[in-house]
Amino acid sequence: MNLQENLIKYARLILKVGLSVKPGDNLIIRVNEDGLPLCREIAKQAHELGVHHIHLAFSDDQIDLARYEHAPEEAFDSIPKLFADFNEAAYNSNFHLLSLRAPNPELLKSVSPDRIKRWQMTTARAGEHVMKYVMENRVKWCVVALPSKPWAKSVFPDLSEDEAVAALWESIFKVTRVDQEDPVAAWEAHDKGLSAREQFLNEQKFVKLIYQAPGTDLTVELPEGHLWIGGGSQSVSGEKFMANIPTEEIFTMPHAFKVNGTLKATKPLSTRGRLIEGMSFVFKDGKVVDFNATSGKDILGDLLDTDEGSRRLGEVALVPDDSPISQTGLLFKNTLFDENAACHFALGQAYGENHVRGNEMTAEEKKEAGMNQSIIHVDFMVGGPELNVTGVKADGSLVSILKNGNWAI
Ligand code: ZN
Ligand code: ZN
Repeated sequence: MNLQENLIKYARLILKVGLSVKPGDNLIIRVNEDGLPLCREIAKQAHELGVHHIHLAFSDDQIDLARYEHAPEEAFDSIPKLFADFNEAAYNSNFHLLSLRAPNPELLKSVSPDRIKRWQMTTARAGEHVMKYVMENRVKWCVVALPSKPWAKSVFPDLSEDEAVAALWESIFKVTRVDQEDPVAAWEAHDKGLSAREQFLNEQKFVKLIYQAPGTDLTVELPEGHLWIGGGSQSVSGEKFMANIPTEEIFTMPHAFKVNGTLKATKPLSTRGRLIEGMSFVFKDGKVVDFNATSGKDILGDLLDTDEGSRRLGEVALVPDDSPISQTGLLFKNTLFDENAACHFALGQAYGENHVRGNEMTAEEKKEAGMNQSIIHVDFMVGGPELNVTGVKADGSLVSILKNGNWAI
């Protein structure tokens, strides 16, 4: 099958399953230069499905890099309010968000970490109230990825650039089930499997989870009213969508103040244009009180110092070690793929949908309930073939959830 035929199937999957677009919907599409061929196919099919307006939020890696390298210092400390205002107005006008990312994991390698940090803080603060539209599912949103040349080369360093891009496309089509005859039907079946486990986990009403692996001995308490979610999400107006393609995870919110023990990450984290490797943490009463990394420790420190909630967890996610993504044996160096190959946690903001009242509570009530709040949400991987996860119920009984990395339920 050629690339164009697969792009047509990928576009259909993104629109039908990812965003379940309806006549009269509008789209904001975040895209960079490598995403244009796929974006054009998506636009064509979206309009055929009844989409009225598409706003392209276009970016170019070289132009982004030029700004980091040459813009004056003051440019990193403020952002015109009209950017956030535009997005908020769009979300209030039936625009939904599609992020088509062709990531470049080390684009900002040569940029001063101080600039990166300041710009992340500035954009996060300015966009905080707009991020809620996504974090609280007030709009439908979907994140997918496609190869950039540097990303493909970092995953397949021994291949030529063109061969690496082709190999990465092939891997993406495999793990997103685009290589199957009817990807939309394949996703509906996959979603049913995730929903069944979600229901089981919710019925158990676990009070805590115990994580054990080499370098990890961690107890994560779960707040009363937590909800496990796997596969599809539902928007506030009741429409189904799939926030990530691919997704293999079933996730909930940890208690922000009740996580204790040691934790060792099992994969590197690509964030802020840098790669952090060999991360480990010590948690006390929910807070990271000590941490280390074999490389990128400065970036990790900056990340943890972002705000009050950035040293606490906002998400715990279960992914079996035999998931299709894990089976490729590849390290994608990209969170969307690597987080669906392994159990993970996120530092920072918790998702409202992971609590029965998550989208209704005030900030004070959220704190009281144990729901973490932060301007960051950064996933990192802790799963692997040596991880065991045990659930503890209110009566003290134990249920083995993951054994040697795979589902025991
Ligand atoms: Zn997750
Ligand atoms: Zn996450």
